Amino acid sequence: MIYADNAATTKMCKVSIEAMTDCIEKFWGNPSSLYAFGQNAAEKLNQARKTIAECIGADSAEIYFTSGGSESDNQAIISAANIGAKKHKKHIISSTFEHHAVLHALKKLEKENFEIELLDVHENGIILPQQISDAIRNDTCLVTVMFANNEIGTIQPITEIGRICHDKKVIFHTDAVQATGHLPINVVEQNIDMLSMSAHKFNGPKGIGVLYVRRGVPLTTLIEGGAQERGKRAGTENVPAIMGMAAALKESCYNMAKSNKKLIELREKIIDGLSKIPYSVLNGDKKNRLPGNVNFCFEGIEGESLLLLLDDRGICASSGSACTSGSLDPSHVLLAIGRPHEVAHGSLRLSIDENISEADVGYIVRSVTEIVDYLRNLSPLWKDKITGKRKFFLI
Ligand SMILES: *Cc1c(COP(=O)(O)O)cnc(C)c1O
Repeated sequence: MIYADNAATTKMCKVSIEAMTDCIEKFWGNPSSLYAFGQNAAEKLNQARKTIAECIGADSAEIYFTSGGSESDNQAIISAANIGAKKHKKHIISSTFEHHAVLHALKKLEKENFEIELLDVHENGIILPQQISDAIRNDTCLVTVMFANNEIGTIQPITEIGRICHDKKVIFHTDAVQATGHLPINVVEQNIDMLSMSAHKFNGPKGIGVLYVRRGVPLTTLIEGGAQERGKRAGTENVPAIMGMAAALKESCYNMAKSNKKLIELREKIIDGLSKIPYSVLNGDKKNRLPGNVNFCFEGIEGESLLLLLDDRGICASSGSACTSGSLDPSHVLLAIGRPHEVAHGSLRLSIDENISEADVGYIVRSVTEIVDYLRNLSPLWKDKITGKRKFFLI
């Protein structure tokens, strides 16, 4: 099997599995218990918090454990909205191509009379800092823009957006689920007030994540109960998963430079290969994208058919995001960058990791090329295009 869907989830790395197993076997006490056996677990928890904080240039006291990216996004947005509302600030700025965890949380707030302004994304999949600057008003309580897009991989000008927000004293949250462990992050230098991450996107376990909240930025309580997470999120900590997450993040950050160099070379080979397919287009910026991300549209095919035939050849890939697959709507991200509906339906996302070889890359390119050709030859719509009865969207 060739696994090229790392944006959906990743395989746990060895050190992460070992850290988790070690914890389950030896440190299974409750960190809130006062006897030494409980405090041993508390000590492990503190170490993990410190490790994670160091990876993003934060302080231990600014790390809140959550159940993953979706929870962190929800918590950040709802909290900033609650605090904004108290000051009669009910304007929130975001973008049209955020993850659904952000978009749906914002939709909920809209029903509660918040004004949500979603900025358009340019065709290359990047928001301009100037757009943020122009949109901020006196009653803006939050700007939330993702660090790197999960479908087209484009990296946003986070540092500049953060600077603008700081100058105008608006809270800045970024969904960094795709970026954490894959791109260098420093919350201080990049002017980030709140940041979401999820362990299973950087070779850690599923169901665990972090919300970083800068000291001094108020946070409302998400789950009432015990005093865990400084009273903001009650419930006995998932210590094994937290230890697995810390080990995975530390390793990802340690290997990042070397790994990214290799990934970019392989990514460029795939992009060059797939660009040779007629009536195809690369989605997102050519260079300013996640090292492992490739996303193409092929005119005249259905993404789902392509995926199933790739699966027959042992290749795991994605078309649109996992949350929208199964529905007939094309990806909101591809629509946001201006792809017509028909073209957006024929999309393919490959998100590779270091386990992919050069030979695998050749096999992927060959397979996609053959399958696209096969599917087009089956399609009456395609025949109409070839004979000039219908127009092409792409050249
Ligand atoms: C995967 C993902 C999420 C959701 O994270 P979970 O841990 O699966 O809840 C949120 N945002 C982005 C950009 C993602 O890629």
